[in-house]
Amino acid sequence: MLAAAVPAVGHFLVPASHAVAQVVSYCLVSAGTAVAMAVGIRLHRPAARAVWWLFGAGQVMYAAGDVAYFVATTGSETNYPVLANVLYLSQYVCAGAALVLLGRRRTPQRNTAALVDTAILAVAAAVLWWVFLIHPAVAAPGFSALDRAAATIYPVMDLCVLTVAIRLVLGGGARQASYQLLLAYLGLTLFADTAYGLLTLHGVYQNGEWSDAVYLVSYLALGAAALHPSMRRVAEPVDGRSGATLYRVVLLAIATLVAPVVLAVQNLRHAASSDLVVVTASAVLFLLMLTRMAGLIAAQRRIAMTDDLTGIYTRRYLSDALRAESERAARQDGSLAMLLVDVDHFKHINDTYGHPAGDQVLREVARRLRDACRDTDVVARFGGEEFAVLVTGAAPDGLAAQAELVRARIAGAPVLVDGRTAITVTVSVGAAALPGTASTEELLLTADSALYAAKRGGRNRVVMGDAEQPIAATPASSAPADLDRQIQRWTALVNEAVRRHAEEPGLPASMVAGVCAAWALMRTACPEHPALSAEQCRAELRRCRGVQFHPRAVDEFLALEAAGVVGTPETAGTARLAATLG
Ligand code: GH3
Ligand code: MG
Ligand code: MG
Repeated sequence: MLAAAVPAVGHFLVPASHAVAQVVSYCLVSAGTAVAMAVGIRLHRPAARAVWWLFGAGQVMYAAGDVAYFVATTGSETNYPVLANVLYLSQYVCAGAALVLLGRRRTPQRNTAALVDTAILAVAAAVLWWVFLIHPAVAAPGFSALDRAAATIYPVMDLCVLTVAIRLVLGGGARQASYQLLLAYLGLTLFADTAYGLLTLHGVYQNGEWSDAVYLVSYLALGAAALHPSMRRVAEPVDGRSGATLYRVVLLAIATLVAPVVLAVQNLRHAASSDLVVVTASAVLFLLMLTRMAGLIAAQRRIAMTDDLTGIYTRRYLSDALRAESERAARQDGSLAMLLVDVDHFKHINDTYGHPAGDQVLREVARRLRDACRDTDVVARFGGEEFAVLVTGAAPDGLAAQAELVRARIAGAPVLVDGRTAITVTVSVGAAALPGTASTEELLLTADSALYAAKRGGRNRVVMGDAEQPIAATPASSAPADLDRQIQRWTALVNEAVRRHAEEPGLPASMVAGVCAAWALMRTACPEHPALSAEQCRAELRRCRGVQFHPRAVDEFLALEAAGVVGTPETAGTARLAATLG
């Protein structure tokens, strides 16, 4: 860096009359940068060498262009420095190619969002370039054809480099020192190019001193980028997800406002404007922004309907699908069918092998479930270790076979966790098929009761639900009929409250019935414990809220209990419950 700084400072100490010394000191820095890049590549041996070689080649082109320019313009003022311009333009091609390559290395995956954002920012920049730089130059009276060509080509090249640079930055990822130096190099050269273009256009460009200084500093930054050890990691793939961060939304908003603001400014200045171009750009920006919004909405929708852990549908999606299917079945006189699948003793799997293993088991169960169902079925995670399958257009008699297939597929082979631990997993399945006129709540309750019956029947089995007895198999089903009815009534009341407050299809009946039955049991004397007071029972429910019992079931139960609607046991029933369940 010191070796480059000496000629850089020297460039400004040499008097203006020593043109040769000035050119030599300048080219020493630009060509020296290419040497620094070669040294950096040899020293750090980066994986993406081509990126750095291309930047280096660009610097060589630049230095050669300066020499050619000097030779062509010294002595004869009339010769247009064609070779110099070709060399200058090659430098853009090299730098652009290096940036494209670097961007592909960092974010190899397709990223439509980043592309659209890049297009928005690039179109906004193009509007500014066109209105304030290119169009005035093209329309300027004193310019020759070659001047005009140069005044167009260079800003266009700058714009191309800017566009790939924006794509690179929007790709995200770690910003190593070397990466930041690269960006500083690009920012400084683009700034100097633009300033040079504007000043020449308005005839106020005097000598090259300050723009030369900016260029020289940018070369130093490029050389430093190649010499810094972090250059090795610059081209490593990054996690390039393009979220819509606030910062980015503001940037995009400003970009989309550029076209109308430019129109307004030009109007106020009564400047010779290029309205049509700006209006077209404005329309393009508008459409790009809409495209971006559509992409965001689609992404949000995907998130809302996909379960994070297992990749199958979420309960929210299932609810929507259930409603649609119910309407269809009612219209076409068809039937509604669903399976509820619950992993047996899953808590034991978690406790024995740990939660990460439990997660892997859930993923594999979801995969097998998906495999065992038809593409038209909606397979969803219902919650925790429960899954639901909405069987569309099913023949009711085929449902039992499908449920059995699901059970057998999952139990068929142990789940291999971490490639070595084989865990045997079984599921219980509750199946329900109702006529299309039935409500979705009835369908869920029937399937849920069937699932509960499968659990009580010993697990790893299928039970077909019976619509007439929606919650016949609640935890208290072995209790006397009067208490059974009482718990059933409480369950219906609590679930009704859940539906009213949460605007959900309600909780599975077993979740609510569990709370009601536990209350009845605690309030009753049995061999394990004396009858607990209502206050003790409330405390116990609160303690188990969210652990053993669904929080909403507990909340609604306690609210109704406080209002005296549920929870007052009819003693004859509870005494016999103690005998049965105790
Ligand atoms: P049963 O045979 O009666 O269904 O017993 P079970 O142990 O499967 O049922 P229980 O409802 O007692 O336990 C379910 C457990 O599932 C409790 C909870 O910690 C666990 N669980 C819920 N969601 C997840 C999850 O996403 N990952 C893991 N690893 N565990 C979960
Ligand atoms: Mg379970
Ligand atoms: Mg469960």
